[in-house]
Amino acid sequence: MHIDTRFARFDAAPGDPCRPTSTPIYQTATFEQESALEFGRFDYTRSGNPTRTVLEDKLAALEGGRFGFALASGMAALSTLLRAAFSLGGSPAARGSLIVGSDLYGGTTRLIERLVAPLGVAVVSVDTTDLQAVRETLAKPSPGPTWVLIESPSNPLLRVSDIPAIAELAHACGARLAVDNTALSPYLQNPLTLGADVVAHSGTKHLGGHGDVTAGALVTSDEELAEAIGFLQNAEGTALAPFDSWLLLRGLKTLAVRVAQEARNAQEVAEFLERHPAVSKVHYPGLPSHDGHDLLERQARGAGQLLSFETRDAVFSQAICESTRLFTIAVSFGSTHSTISLPCKMSHASVPDQAIEQGRISPLPADLVRLSIGLENPADLIEDLKQALVSPAKVHRPAPHGQGLHCRLSES
Ligand SMILES: *Cc1c(COP(=O)(O)O)cnc(C)c1O
Repeated sequence: MHIDTRFARFDAAPGDPCRPTSTPIYQTATFEQESALEFGRFDYTRSGNPTRTVLEDKLAALEGGRFGFALASGMAALSTLLRAAFSLGGSPAARGSLIVGSDLYGGTTRLIERLVAPLGVAVVSVDTTDLQAVRETLAKPSPGPTWVLIESPSNPLLRVSDIPAIAELAHACGARLAVDNTALSPYLQNPLTLGADVVAHSGTKHLGGHGDVTAGALVTSDEELAEAIGFLQNAEGTALAPFDSWLLLRGLKTLAVRVAQEARNAQEVAEFLERHPAVSKVHYPGLPSHDGHDLLERQARGAGQLLSFETRDAVFSQAICESTRLFTIAVSFGSTHSTISLPCKMSHASVPDQAIEQGRISPLPADLVRLSIGLENPADLIEDLKQALVSPAKVHRPAPHGQGLHCRLSES
């Protein structure tokens, strides 16, 4: 079956004698038991809920894995994954190593720096677009399990890492690969079929797709890892609520058309920006000029709807954000409407300064503007950007207060 068909059609309510065509929301905390000693399929919604089960099975099928999990947010999914990964076979004294891409979502960096590393996991960041650097890092001996965590394309710099090659390098060293697939969604890329061991999503982005729900997902075919994730999901109570599960199911039905159209719109916007004299660099892997263009074509079915650009002038970039009319100034992405943001002041402001000072994270350019392209007509979006990209000389400049080339990130 074609992938579009798999998004649109699925059994909404397996085994339900009423045969509803939309999954019922089982808005209940408990399920009655046959007797004090006999449990049914479900007993308590924290442990399992039929609405969530339909979603989890669908997520697994769409990513090509055996076990799906829906969690309260993308961060809950990543936190659960990392804790499950490092309790596998590792003793408390030697919890293993985590090799991470050097530009990850800001909240992921905060999670790793503030919560995972202090538990005894040795964290090494490496430019995962450089396979030689990945190979050398993996070759270093480490106590306990080793995991590699990447985003491809990364957010907000849209750098593309070679998923099959990194999976192969990792497996050759007994390490495992986790891929945060939020940027492309299961419609455009399936890391498990490329060799990854587990895939993570912020469902807040494309899976929900309308900016109205916070959710996260994990999919794996590894039984032992799935068991550890399922245990944590229940033990810590991080599972997605029934109504939010239903919102995600509804989002998935239209994901294929949304993501395909948004990617077409993003391509047009990126081509316009690349020709514009006030734009010094465009980061969008759909452009043939992008470093990761050929690699992306090999491992994904499209470049997605996220792009970023530089202007060499942070004050000008801020003025662009503030003078667009169709782009909402907001964090997050993957919704039906277009948004504009300054990553180093907004989505990535949570990266601890110390991670940058110690060279584990590369600072983002202060003039970087990120666009999340929605379902508006691309001609309207381009018209709007045209009027916002007025000459930098015309921008009102406040008294200088440390506007350097790279932003200082502060805790928020
Ligand atoms: C947004 C995002 C997250 C975090 O997801 P939440 O749903 O906001 O908790 C993780 N990874 C990536 C790549 C994201 O864009």
